[in-house]
Amino acid sequence: MNICRKGAAFILTAVCALTALVFFGRLAGETAPPAPTAEPVVEQAIQEPERPAEPEIPAEGQENAEAPEPEEPEPLMASPHFAMAEYRCDCAGYCDGWPCEMRPELLEKIEALRCWYDQPVIITSGVRCAARNEEVGGVSWSFHKRGCAADLYCPGVGVGDLTQTAQKLGMNVLPYYSSGYVHVEVLP
Ligand SMILES: [Zn+2]
Ligand SMILES: [Zn+2]
Repeated sequence: MNICRKGAAFILTAVCALTALVFFGRLAGETAPPAPTAEPVVEQAIQEPERPAEPEIPAEGQENAEAPEPEEPEPLMASPHFAMAEYRCDCAGYCDGWPCEMRPELLEKIEALRCWYDQPVIITSGVRCAARNEEVGGVSWSFHKRGCAADLYCPGVGVGDLTQTAQKLGMNVLPYYSSGYVHVEVLP
């Protein structure tokens, strides 16, 4: 009986020892790998942001340096004091802004009007497409649709004064006293 007990105790001890070896062996095997893998992850995490950051800064700097150049083209001038864009159709997209060209004779006379007062003259309406003309309540035969008319005002100058001067310079004028601007036009 003693032999049997000793044998059983030995087997139990051996099983426990083997189990412990396997268990700790696995633990050692499992805990060991994360340590080396964790370090490279940290290194990569530090390196990755640094690498893109270096090329991004010069790239942005180049874009900023290059961007202003195309943004500064000289505007197309209708006359010395007026950009052509001031006469474009101001509709919300019915046309591309130029249903027709502005009449050069009118542009010259408006420039002369501006030089007469030596003060800024504000164009509130130049050429209009048919849709825009209808939208603002223009008459169907409006000269705005043919690039032969413009609405304008000169801050500090009365509508009556502006009307007389525009007429002297050879324009047909419709004064809008209540609205504070004049409609000027030349024959097509
Ligand atoms: Zn338009
Ligand atoms: Zn008008």
